[in-house]
Amino acid sequence: MAQTKTISGQAPTVGPLLRLEHYSFGVGDRFAHQAKAQLRAIQLLGQRGVDVTPVWNKSNREHLIIGSEPGSVLAAVQNAAQALGWQKPFHVDADHITLATFGRFVAASDYFTLDVAETIGQSAQDAEVEGFLAGHPELLRPVALEGQQQPLYMSREEAARFARKYLLAARAAGQIYRAIAAARGELPFVTEVSMDETESPQEPEELLLILAALADERVPLQTVAPKFSGRFNKGVDYVGDVRQFESQFRADLAVIGHAVKSYDLPKNLKLSVHSGSDKFSLYAPIRRALRDTGAGVHLKTAGTTWLEELIGLAEAGGEALKLAKRIYSESYSHREELCAPYLAVIDIDANELPEPSEVARWTAEQYCAALRHDQSCTQFNPSFRQLLHVGYKIAAKMGQTYREMLEACEEQISRNVTANLYERHLKPLFLD
Ligand SMILES: [Zn+2]
Repeated sequence: MAQTKTISGQAPTVGPLLRLEHYSFGVGDRFAHQAKAQLRAIQLLGQRGVDVTPVWNKSNREHLIIGSEPGSVLAAVQNAAQALGWQKPFHVDADHITLATFGRFVAASDYFTLDVAETIGQSAQDAEVEGFLAGHPELLRPVALEGQQQPLYMSREEAARFARKYLLAARAAGQIYRAIAAARGELPFVTEVSMDETESPQEPEELLLILAALADERVPLQTVAPKFSGRFNKGVDYVGDVRQFESQFRADLAVIGHAVKSYDLPKNLKLSVHSGSDKFSLYAPIRRALRDTGAGVHLKTAGTTWLEELIGLAEAGGEALKLAKRIYSESYSHREELCAPYLAVIDIDANELPEPSEVARWTAEQYCAALRHDQSCTQFNPSFRQLLHVGYKIAAKMGQTYREMLEACEEQISRNVTANLYERHLKPLFLD
């Protein structure tokens, strides 16, 4: 990768900015076979008059589990764009990267999601906290926000507590950002900062302080992913108080609007909703909030597509159905190991998991009904679905066998991939 040096010989601290569009939608394609089917869903929405920019995201963890390289994502997306005549922008997101892991993504990604969750647990020194608060007296006064009845207010103690919690995270974001900018040289990119993989949700006050700290670090972030209240379990609906979510989401939008003006952050800064797939009860509240405020949004839906691959395989019947059943049976026997990295984002009721011997006797219809995210279907089994959600490692181990079956059943799979994204995600978020 070419490095651009400034006259002083230092790497530039601020790289060129690639502007992220107003609405963007993160899709994940674990085995790099569904980019076309995903892009088709975006095109269908475009035909209804709503432009959404697709962003293919894959984390380092997913690459390690699958055994893939970031370049494979870009190649798959470029092929899909060419095949479908897609002339509009798209991006490739190096999802949840850190200073230790960003390197392999530099050439093939133009969107970097900086994960600072690790540093959120580390406390800043008292002197740093005092210095930050002295530089930001405005944070200690009531902050009136557009569209919000109550001003935000932090006591000095609260502000100090938040600063202690987030200052090192903001500094870490600054370090990763500058390292990427140096490595990318003249190549522009989008920066997102994510804090969703932390233990406790961030209140709007915390978000404001975080944005002030990131602005001090000169991180030109265009999206920020806070942890919202409630549970964002993988592949299933939101579990929590939807009205509380809506008021928090709106308060966060107001905080962002305020921070953009006060701290000279990119004007298109917007919220990013991680683990956003299948959160059907949140889409109407999000759509209303966007409509009322004119805000943009980014929403990531990585894992939902892999489950549609399984549904397509089951629908195809024969050997493909057998393979889908084998993936369940092996996920079942390795369930503890598969679930361990995801315990904070899954809720599986072991009593609800069918025995593999029972699943072996299922018809294709039974398999699909248990797996497909149709809450009105009495056979839908959220535990079965969540276990398979984390079971992609089993398919990855099957290697060529799995990939060849994906190709053999492309028609059934792509139909499901497109319909899932368009009917169950994009339409309720942007149209209905
Ligand atoms: Zn995330």
